Amino acid sequence: MTQDSSNEKPWQAVRTEAVESLLVELGVIDSTRVDEIVHHYEDKVGPKGGARVVARAWVDPAFKQRLLADGLAACAELGLGGPETEKLHVVENTATVHNAVVCTLCSCYPWPILGIPPAWYKSSAYRSRMVREPRRLLTEMGLIIDPSVEIRVWDSVSEIRYLVLPERPAGSELMSVEQLADLVSRDAMIGVAKVSL
Ligand code: FE
Repeated sequence: MTQDSSNEKPWQAVRTEAVESLLVELGVIDSTRVDEIVHHYEDKVGPKGGARVVARAWVDPAFKQRLLADGLAACAELGLGGPETEKLHVVENTATVHNAVVCTLCSCYPWPILGIPPAWYKSSAYRSRMVREPRRLLTEMGLIIDPSVEIRVWDSVSEIRYLVLPERPAGSELMSVEQLADLVSRDAMIGVAKVSL
């Protein structure tokens, strides 16, 4: 191990920095703007935004209808939005259908609503197995879906991102919208977990 090995970056980071400096040199992008965007998604946006959307949909049927019809417009009502998502398709879990989201090509994800995707979402194992054997993969991730429930897998692309609207847990009838939002995990909005009390 050399003395400066701790400063070595993964090849992906080196490549990204090289591409960024080329694009800056060519005048395609502005590096200050890139830093602003990274900071925004790392520090200011997170799954809490999506959780607020889900909780609101559970308590407000008219909002839920708007959310299912046009995800981005409904999220904008709650002050959520921004670059990186042109169309947000919200898919609702029911007693007979369970939805899960993947990006088979890379790691497309509803950043403005959920923040930065988890590392496993970008792994090749998740990306391939969620398509090939979703039920088995979900079981391994701790989510057992009843055999009678249909699993629908949605493949994100750069233009269309997906958000799962999980089922509201039984027994939560008296909870406030803020309390409900605290129950909703990032994984439930990707479709690899359920919401429970
Ligand atoms: Fe992608």
